[in-house]
Amino acid sequence: AKVKGGQQFQIFSEDMSRHLVERQQLETELRCALENGNELELFFQPIYASEDLRITSVESLVRWNHPRRGLVTPLEFIPIAEETGLIGKLGEWVLREACRAAKDWSIETIAVNVSPIQLSQPGFPEMVFDVLLESGLSPQKLEIEITETALLDSSNTTSKRALKALRDAGVRIALDDFGTGYSSLNNLIALQVDFVKIDRSFLQPTSSRSVIWAIINMSHAIGLEVTAEGVETEDQKEFLIAVGCDHIQGYLLSKPLPEASFTALLEEQISG
Ligand code: C2E
Ligand code: CA
Ligand code: CA
Ligand code: CA
Repeated sequence: AKVKGGQQFQIFSEDMSRHLVERQQLETELRCALENGNELELFFQPIYASEDLRITSVESLVRWNHPRRGLVTPLEFIPIAEETGLIGKLGEWVLREACRAAKDWSIETIAVNVSPIQLSQPGFPEMVFDVLLESGLSPQKLEIEITETALLDSSNTTSKRALKALRDAGVRIALDDFGTGYSSLNNLIALQVDFVKIDRSFLQPTSSRSVIWAIINMSHAIGLEVTAEGVETEDQKEFLIAVGCDHIQGYLLSKPLPEASFTALLEEQISG
């Protein structure tokens, strides 16, 4: 048994070191990509008003076009950026690109995902204000998406202060992945967010539709607008419209698009 355990440990540690080397390499390459800025790209996924299915908002989603690995998903490199401290630089790049792109779009808001680690870094709101000034985008047009679990971590006073400074300046705050973090109604009121984004998992057939109905009604009761993300079927769309969900987003309506394609889609909407 001892020998077997030893072998298992060896296999495990070889596996681990391969994993570590791989991560280290990704980190070095991400650092490079951030310096050069040419491998990173923002995609834009439209968000539609349920009442007339017009595009009112858009979410920016970062992509990494790696020369050898191909398209690396943010689910893979955001965690690395968070662990290595690169998230500050990456987040700033994302924000700057999003504000620049959105400057001339006739939409209500541009949504940018912000990592909880970035939010807790000193100087975050000041950086946001700098980027807004530089781009000429009005603060009311910027929406910051923060996951529910991150916002519930109320132990972090820097994050709380950052959120207040942003809110005071007119920046909108959206609670992302809502429903995955077990917020109470009290929490939801205390957080003072403007929007709630219902997590995609609630649209799964195994999930109860009365839960979505309850989230929407509870949010409306305290003055929040609701967006449903991950809408993939006509049936889901019809249901969400019927229960009064304010905004919908998902592959059924549009996948995340490169900047030029999203601009073209908006122009089409205006002219047609
Ligand atoms: P998220 O903020 O919850 O974004 C929604 C994700 O769902 C996106 O994946 C989007 O492409 C995908 N999606 C949209 N519609 C549908 C649909 O109908 N069906 C399905 N199955 N998926 C849909 P993506 O772009 O791979 O991003 C994954 C996550 O990475 C995001 O989740 C967000 O947490 C993070 N992320 C992306 N961009 C950024 C960024 O610029 N900064 C930070 N901090 N995080 C980012
Ligand atoms: Ca999001
Ligand atoms: Ca989400
Ligand atoms: Ca998510």
